[in-house]
Amino acid sequence: MGQQGEHREVVVVGAGIGGLSAAYRLQQQGRDVLVLEGSPQVGGVLRRRSVAGVPVDVGAEAMLNRRPEGVALAADLGLEVCHPTVASSRIWTRDALRPLPRSLMGVPLDLDDLAASGVLTDAELARVREESGHAATPIGADVTVGDLVDDRLGPAVTDRLVEPLLGGVYAGHARRISARAAVPQLVALAEQGSLLDQAPGLTAPATYSAPVFAGLPGGMGGLPLALAERLEVRTRATVRGLRRTTTSGPFALTVGPTTDERTITADAVVLAVPAAAASRLLADLAPAASTELAGVEAASVAVVTLALRVADTGALAETDASGFLVPPVERRAIKAATFSFSKWGWVREAGAADGLIHLRTSLGRHGEEAALQANDDELVAVSLRDLRDATGLEATPVDTHVQRWGGGLPQYSLGHLDRVARVRAAVEAVPGLAVCGAAYDGVGIPAVIGSAERAAQWVP
Ligand SMILES: Cc1cc2nc3c(=O)[nH]c(=O)nc-3n(C[C@H](O)[C@H](O)[C@H](O)COP(=O)(O)OP(=O)(O)OC[C@H]3O[C@@H](n4cnc5c(N)ncnc54)[C@H](O)[C@@H]3O)c2cc1C
Repeated sequence: MGQQGEHREVVVVGAGIGGLSAAYRLQQQGRDVLVLEGSPQVGGVLRRRSVAGVPVDVGAEAMLNRRPEGVALAADLGLEVCHPTVASSRIWTRDALRPLPRSLMGVPLDLDDLAASGVLTDAELARVREESGHAATPIGADVTVGDLVDDRLGPAVTDRLVEPLLGGVYAGHARRISARAAVPQLVALAEQGSLLDQAPGLTAPATYSAPVFAGLPGGMGGLPLALAERLEVRTRATVRGLRRTTTSGPFALTVGPTTDERTITADAVVLAVPAAAASRLLADLAPAASTELAGVEAASVAVVTLALRVADTGALAETDASGFLVPPVERRAIKAATFSFSKWGWVREAGAADGLIHLRTSLGRHGEEAALQANDDELVAVSLRDLRDATGLEATPVDTHVQRWGGGLPQYSLGHLDRVARVRAAVEAVPGLAVCGAAYDGVGIPAVIGSAERAAQWVP
């Protein structure tokens, strides 16, 4: 198609929310930008699929409202945001759906709330109370979230509260995830003294007027589509090689299948792909960054979406909860359920026309890929079994959708912040090269957009 010899000012590799945000900011700076995406569609983990005729998110479905980047980008694009219509979540533990106590990533902020929830036994609660008066302890280079919480509040808090919350965000394990990278606020508190004694000062956000989360009516999948409309994006364009044409000359990207290989040159390149892909592409240009990124592991997860007849769902249709989390100690197949019909007004309204409700489960934790080695029908069956045990739901879905996200969530292991600093130092030593995406400064959508904006500023 005459693309041999094509030269662009900036090429962004990857059309997930990271790559698209970086490209959008670069274009706003007046740059000529081309986005190359390997898969047939844009959006990466932000994707919608029709389930019983209703397009719903089958990847990410919400963004933090208390970090500015996500909602600001939506506003910039002229997109309306919405907020969950119910804020209360549950935790399925000790054979009941219990209110999720107010917490900082599972670390309880209110002992009365915690006691009332029934999540912990009296002995476990007594262990938590011992933390009051705890002296400040320096954390040192890093500590895992689980080790910090085990030490301060006892392992039951890690197992029954921190694990399910961290599992929801990272699909990882509390005793392997870096506290400095994942919950820096917790580290700061621990270095000042007792977590419990400082908790009253942290409860303010519960009464803070802005909702914690935001979404888009019609789904978060609309965000990458709105960006892509404003950009030049080529799909089915996997970048397989990256080098410099001469020592200080432009970059050369090898694009497409070996049978139809093209070369595109560019003055600057932003790599917005997962860590494993970035590692491969950086092997020649920034070998130190490549080695570091090869060490970033990823968790595979699956999202099972179910459309059910309202008439079959009994009391669940009237729930005031947005869903529930499941601690891994419960040894259930699902790690969370989201009652999308309850959480999002637009999902409820879209399903109501046909007398349907939509909900979803998520499965899969880091290192437990075997649990996902089942066919789609089996993942639907275990989801229905767990939903029945948790809520009493006995219903046959009208439609189902199983979305697998292989390697979808990077794991922030001990020393992650130092690793990222080393990656950036090696990448930034190559003028015109930048990286962004979920592997670096946070996996949530606003954090990924933040890393993209940083990359866009870095491009000379
Ligand atoms: C199931 C799930 C649910 C989530 N839910 C939420 C949520 O509710 N809220 C939230 O804030 N966060 C959520 N997250 C996290 C968040 O969605 C992701 O961290 C974020 O979307 C990642 O964006 P990204 O652009 O870095 O990567 P990706 O979305 O992975 O995009 C990378 C893109 O690069 C492409 N690519 C890879 N290699 C190449 C190559 N060689 N050449 C060209 N293209 C390539 C891929 O095809 C992909 O499109 C969720 C994550 C998962 C997996």
